[in-house]
Order: sequence, then structure tokens, then C-alpha cells
Amino acid sequence: MDREATQAKYAEEREKRLRPDGNDQYQRLADKFAHFEDDPYVPRRERTVKKDHVTVAFIGGGFSGLVTGARLAELGIHDVRIIEKGGDFGGTWYWNRYPGAMCDTASMIYLPLLEETGHMPTEKYARAPEILAHCERIGRQYGLYDKALFHTRVQEMSWQEQQACWRITTDRGDDFTAQFVAMGTGPLHVPKLPGLSGIENFKGHSFHTSRWDYAYTGGDAAGAPMTGLADKKVALIGTGATAVQCIPHLAAACKTFFVCQRTPSSVDFRTNEPTDPAWYAAATEDAGWQQRWMENFTENMNPLGRAEEDLVRDGWTDLARRFRERVATLPEAQRKDPLAMFKAWETADYDKMDAIRARVDEEVKDPETAASLKAWYRQLCKRPCFHDDYLDAFNNASTVLLDTDGKGVERITEAGVVVAGKEYPVDCIIYGTGFLIGTETQDRCGFEMIGRAGVTLSEYWEKGMRTLHGVSTHGFPNAFRVQPTQAANFIANVPHNIVESARTIALMIKHTLDAGYSVIETEAAAEAEWLKLLSESSLMLADPSCTPGYYNNEGQPLPEEARVYVGHPGGPMAYFRYIDEWRSNGRFDGMALR
Ligand code: NDP
Repeated sequence: MDREATQAKYAEEREKRLRPDGNDQYQRLADKFAHFEDDPYVPRRERTVKKDHVTVAFIGGGFSGLVTGARLAELGIHDVRIIEKGGDFGGTWYWNRYPGAMCDTASMIYLPLLEETGHMPTEKYARAPEILAHCERIGRQYGLYDKALFHTRVQEMSWQEQQACWRITTDRGDDFTAQFVAMGTGPLHVPKLPGLSGIENFKGHSFHTSRWDYAYTGGDAAGAPMTGLADKKVALIGTGATAVQCIPHLAAACKTFFVCQRTPSSVDFRTNEPTDPAWYAAATEDAGWQQRWMENFTENMNPLGRAEEDLVRDGWTDLARRFRERVATLPEAQRKDPLAMFKAWETADYDKMDAIRARVDEEVKDPETAASLKAWYRQLCKRPCFHDDYLDAFNNASTVLLDTDGKGVERITEAGVVVAGKEYPVDCIIYGTGFLIGTETQDRCGFEMIGRAGVTLSEYWEKGMRTLHGVSTHGFPNAFRVQPTQAANFIANVPHNIVESARTIALMIKHTLDAGYSVIETEAAAEAEWLKLLSESSLMLADPSCTPGYYNNEGQPLPEEARVYVGHPGGPMAYFRYIDEWRSNGRFDGMALR
């Protein structure tokens, strides 16, 4: 296909998928579906109610809480209480135990604190049980289990001006105070369902991929075969990053397996391989190797970067490399012309997507199925996927692709799913339909934060998120966040954002305590100045010409307040370099200490 025809095809496919209800097409797991959110993994344990005081309370026991806890412990601050809604540490890796779950970014840079823990990842892309075990390892090594509260949800956090601390209440009746609070609640932790007509009437079994029901399917997260599905007809709704990983396992296990597809994912090569211990020993010989690897990957992902080597070498860096090679062919003058640069990037993307589509033809035997599995959009319009067995799963005689041609499942009946007017009776429906991505702070954290003078975070952020460095907010003293927005905004390796923010926060807390202050707070002027700098950035994930999805607000215009969901205008490495200097010079410019 020539470029014009490809462009026209992209626009045509986008149109099919566009719908006026945008994000409202989804529903929360409430009422009849509330039990979908129950923890199937760890039983809830009774414990005493906490009415005490701690130095630091951290909301969220995933990578963010663990790495911040570790950095604090390294600085001698051990009075840290992590509050976590799951039954153990792990966050996303605690909940997502679906078959085939593994990291999509190389273990060497994705698993935090490898150097500190001495753990060698067993594969280039570690599987979920290994990642979960690594989380537990960090928890044990840094003593974070001692004070952690599991199966506990914060209900409210309010600043106590007189005592200069935060009061925290939880759904377990805890009511304690903390001098400092920090949060790493993650953007993708509230599962969602499609708002399909009849969904509540289905009489068979159903569950969401983030709470895998091994009691029903048989097997386990470690890969034991799901023998419970051998006599079952199963429908999976969704073909996003989660579905891509579990489809090969379901295809092998079910008597009949229907994959309900609305938009095909782009599935690039993965080439996972076991780690060679000799190679690992050599690669990790020098102190600080993991930081160097992370920075090397981030630098490689910078389309204008000048990384001389590519340590990770995978599908992520391949796209960026292709773009750099294109740019290198441009005359010098054109390298400053945004239109010429856009064209170079678009051409690199066309080539990459052509290769990804060609791979479908090479691997999928049935031409009609192959045609349906091809993604017609630019690669970064939706979350790129990487897998070696996904496409081959569709060669399995018991696997049936129900391509909805962009329209989605029509409705659900007592017996099964309806696609293009035809009912497919099934025993089980599995929802691989993702997570709520909202912009409302309370919605995502599940609790309200009340800052100085009784102002809530929702009120303060009514017109959009406001932070200094993505980490702290004026009017909310001694409070910090671990998340990428208004900071590096580096999505290809989220843990890189986490390790940097954790270091920044730990150093701020250490400085406040050592200098004998009780309060550290963002100055309004510094916050405003930072937001002014960020206003020079473009909104990376909101390209309206892309096929709809959560990257671009389902193709709907962005609400005004989302315009501040940006990163440093110089790109991720510019932020990481800047923040390292800011936190290391000992001045903590823009923070008031009292
Ligand atoms: P997604 O939101 O990416 O995917 C949801 C899927 O459900 C999409 O295919 C969507 O189609 C489909 N869907 C929704 N409604 C309907 C409907 N009515 N009919 C048919 N299909 C429907 O969720 P995931 O859980 O797959 O992934 C979420 C994110 O989690 C990823 O983007 C990634 O960031 C992260 N993740 C990371 C992994 C890793 O690093 N290893 C692994 C898994 C997830 P459509 O595309 O048309 O909207």
C-alpha cells in the first residue's frame, strides 16, 4: 500500500471505532459486579487498629512504595508505614496474575533495585511470579513488612496545622498520624467493564483479568495448565496488552475459545531469552550499572537523542532507532523544521507498522483471520505489544477470532456474547477490558486529601493538576507523589520515573528531619514557574488523529484540565538530569522549610 492509501485506511479504521460516549461507555465494578474486585489471592487477616504516629506513611505497596521505602531506609529512616489495598506488596503485580503475565520492558531496567538486592532476572522479560517475588524481596530486605498495613484502604487524609502532621483514616478503623505522607497509587488500578446491554444477565461464570479465577480455570500463575477449561467454551473480551499475553494460554486450554476483538493490537517481536549468568556478571560488574542501563534506554527512546549504544535492544528502541536513521538522511536545515521531522517520524512509523502487519501474514495461516488481526494506526497511537506466541495462537483450531470490525461486542445475553447479530453461547466470559483512566484525583485514589485551610486536592486541582516537579503541591505540606506526570512522563519504562521520584522524596524528607524542621512545602511561585515551563510541552498521549483508546481520551476532545498532563519540554532525560541536580545541591529551591 502506498502512503496515501495507508493514511486513508488509518482514518477509515479510526472512524469505525469512534463513538460519542467516549469514556462513558465503560462502567465501574459496582453493585452486581462489586465482587469482581475481591482479592482471590490472600485471605484478609484480622489485626489491631492503629491509633499511633509514624514518620512516613506511604499509600500504595507497589514499586513506588517499595522503592521509596527502600531509599528512606538507606538514609536511616525506618519508621515508614506502607498502606496497601492488596494482601501483600506488588501493586499491579499483586493483582495481575493472569496466565502469561510478564513485563513488556526488559527486566534489567524494569525491575527496580536489582543491584541493591543482588537478584539476577531469569529472563530478558521476567514473568509475573518472579516480579511479585522481587517485590516481596525488596519488602523483606528493607524491613518494610514490619509496619505495613495490607488489605487496607485509606479513606481520608487531612493536614493538621497545629501538630504539623497528616491524620489518616482507613476502612479498617485506623486513625493515626504521620509527619510525612507520600502516594504511589498507580494510574491503572481500578478495573473497568464495558457498559454492554445485558451484561448483568449472563448466567455463566465471569471475571476480570486483574483478578484471575484459577479456582475456576485450574492451573496457576506459574504456568500450570488450566485443566478446568478443557470442557469449556470461553469468550475473552478485549485484545489489549493483557489479552495479548493471556490469549496463547487460553487458546491451549479451552475446548472452544472466542476472542472478541474491537481494535487489533500491534504485536511486535519479543524474543525473550533466559539470562546467561556469565553475561550478567560481566554486564553488572561496575557499580551503578542499573542506573546507566535505565538512562541508556531512556536516551535511546529519545527520537532526537544521541545514544551511542543500545544496551536493551528491543521493539521499543527499534522504533526510535528507525526514526533517528530517517532524520539522519535529512539535510541539516530540515532537521529544525517541525513538518519535515514529523514526516520523517511518520515514514519510520509506516515502515515499522508495515513490518508488524507483514508478520501477521507470515504467522497466521487463515488469510481472513490474518487480515482482521492487522493494526491500522501509528504504533504509538495505542500501547504497543510484544509477543512471540500471540499470532500463532490463532492457528489453533479451537480458537475463533470474533472480529467486531471496530464496533465491539453488541450485547450480552443469559447464554453468551452477541457479535454482528449472532449469539455465541459460552460457559465463561473473561473481561480483558482494562482499567479506568480518569482525571479526577479522588476517583483514582479512592480517597480525599484535605490540605491546609481545609482545601481538598480535588478543589485545588479543579482546573488541572498542579505540582512542582510532579512530586509536591502548594498547600499540601509534607506530602509527595510518585508518578510520571508533570515530571519525566516516560511511559516506555515507568520504573525509571519511580526510582527518580523515590530518591527525590527520600532526600527531601531526610533534609527536613536532619535540619530540625517540621514542615517542607512547595512555594506557590515555584509551582507556577514549573507549570509555565511545562506549558511549552506538547501533549504526548492525546493525538486526536489516532484510533480511539485511553491514550487519547477515546478520541474525544480533552477536558481543559487534562492539558497539564505533560512532562518536561526537554524530554525525559532532560527532567532526570534536572531533578538530579535539584535534589543534590542541598538547596531544595522552591521549597519552604519551617
Ligand atoms: P486495555 O484498556 O489496553 O484494553 C482493553 C481491551 O478491551 C481493548 O482491546 C478494548 O478495545 C477492549 N474492549 C473494551 N470494550 C470493549 C467492547 N465493548 N467490545 C470489545 N472489546 C472491548 O487494557 P489492558 O488490561 O489490556 O491493558 C491496560 C494497560 O496495562 C496497558 O495499556 C499497559 O499499559 C498495561 N499493561 C502492561 C503490561 C506489561 O507491561 N507487561 C501487560 C498488560 C497491561 P479497544 O482497543 O477498541 O478499546
